[in-house]
Amino acid sequence: MQSPWDFPDFDDHEVVHFVTDRNSGLKAIIAVHSTHLGPGAGGTRFWHYADKGQAVADALRLSRGMSYKNAMADLPLGGGKAVILADEAHTKTPEMLAAFGRAVDGLCGRYVTAEDVGMSVADMVAISKETKYVSGLPVAEGAVGGDPGPHTSYGVFLGVRAAVRRALGKDSLSGLHIAIQGAGSVGGGLARLAAADGARITVADVAADRAQALADEVGGKTVAARDILAIEADVLAPCALGAIFNERTIPELRVPVIAGGANNQLATAADGDRVDGRGILYAPDYVINAGGIINVASEYLGDGDEAKVRERIERIPGRLEAIWDESAATGRNPAAVADDMAQRKIGRG
Ligand code: NAD
Repeated sequence: MQSPWDFPDFDDHEVVHFVTDRNSGLKAIIAVHSTHLGPGAGGTRFWHYADKGQAVADALRLSRGMSYKNAMADLPLGGGKAVILADEAHTKTPEMLAAFGRAVDGLCGRYVTAEDVGMSVADMVAISKETKYVSGLPVAEGAVGGDPGPHTSYGVFLGVRAAVRRALGKDSLSGLHIAIQGAGSVGGGLARLAAADGARITVADVAADRAQALADEVGGKTVAARDILAIEADVLAPCALGAIFNERTIPELRVPVIAGGANNQLATAADGDRVDGRGILYAPDYVINAGGIINVASEYLGDGDEAKVRERIERIPGRLEAIWDESAATGRNPAAVADDMAQRKIGRG
């Protein structure tokens, strides 16, 4: 039998908890990758995994991702992630959430949870009855916190501008063509900010009506979802799914810049080299999309107001510049450089 230490996604995680509560039927995994910089922070995913090994892999991979993202955002937080194994009907009960809250509480702050796929603000409120180590709660009018989407969009917009400055020598998006995959929270916010900066927007979404409504709002165009990755544009901004850049899609790209908010854009580490080999400037996803976690962290840590959050998000372009500089100096692709930098920051360099 394969030992947990040999799982492909195991990366010297500090601790991995397997949680079972017979009364509520809760089965969960809480993975804490690193607490070098602070409590392991990252959301809880509620998902049905046909293969339970995949749940372990997700917890390991996503918690490492949170270590890197929090470190590169210069937050006093480590990386963790929890996965609750849902049944096929995705049955979620108050007893289950309470049991999960107690499990989080039992880690005494080593792990701090928040929403992820399948978990809502209401779920966080339920969990908060059992533990104080939870974020993503409703916020009072005017207080920091709440929906991270607009903050993510703002950081991505600043990152797009930084990439355009570097790759195209332009100080604004005026007259440039930005292609956005995904007309949701992040893609929509980016479209509005980029259009206000003078960009021409093309947007695609599997929900065609959503794409059309956004295009109408920003005076842009739409294309079919299957066509957006091969569109000719100045910037491609992936703001939908992960793993979209792979052996098949990268040769078809017709843009000098990729800068967008989606998580885990590169299907494999080798795809970082493939994108680089095409001469495309890539903004590492977890660096450019950190605006949301910066906002969530300020809510949890209670250490800033709206102005402070904006000021922290405005440091994203500088981090991208540092990555691109190191990439240019070493010949390593920007995604690999970002991983190296993150590892140094969490004391593993
Ligand atoms: P969302 O659900 O609001 O929007 C995603 C949109 O993408 C939806 O409209 C969906 O229909 C569309 N979509 C899905 N598959 C598509 C495809 N193949 N082609 C075109 N469109 C497709 O989600 P969001 O909050 O805007 O998040 C978008 C991405 O950004 C995700 O990868 C998410 O993990 C990442 N992200 C979000 C935040 C945040 O603060 N919301 C923070 C960091 C990263």
